Amino acid sequence: MTFGGSNYLDELLAIDVRQWKREGLLQPGTHFPWYWKSWNSRSRGISVNVDDGELALGYYPGGRITKFVQRTIVTLEQTPCHFGGHRVWFCCPRCRRRAAKLYYHRIRFVCRRCVGLNYRSQSFPAPFHGMRRFWHSKPVSDRISTGVAEDKLSI
Ligand SMILES: [Zn+2]
Repeated sequence: MTFGGSNYLDELLAIDVRQWKREGLLQPGTHFPWYWKSWNSRSRGISVNVDDGELALGYYPGGRITKFVQRTIVTLEQTPCHFGGHRVWFCCPRCRRRAAKLYYHRIRFVCRRCVGLNYRSQSFPAPFHGMRRFWHSKPVSDRISTGVAEDKLSI
């Protein structure tokens, strides 16, 4: 993760269908945890259940581990490649468009278009402490939406 960069999408937790396909994780019946390491080495993660043509993502929307687990179904789509075989895509749960990556934004996983490119880009204060204070004054959902969650928060 980077902070204060020009591309704020880099600061969001992202899942990449190409990577999962490359690693052979998209076989129906597969169940795996997926983790991100944050700046302080604490990891945050989701659980992924692969079904036929869709994924079920499980995570804790409020950050803390509670009984309530948010589940999001993400449909998978395939398009033929020029050189044979198929390319796999996520189908954005919000706008239904094909996307190679989904970003964790406002407690859901959506495509880059749904995140919105002009939102807060290049507006982060440079020093990290400044950003901490800034984010602490925000509602929890806002902090999580940019991937700058409190130490003990986990998805
Ligand atoms: Zn979308």
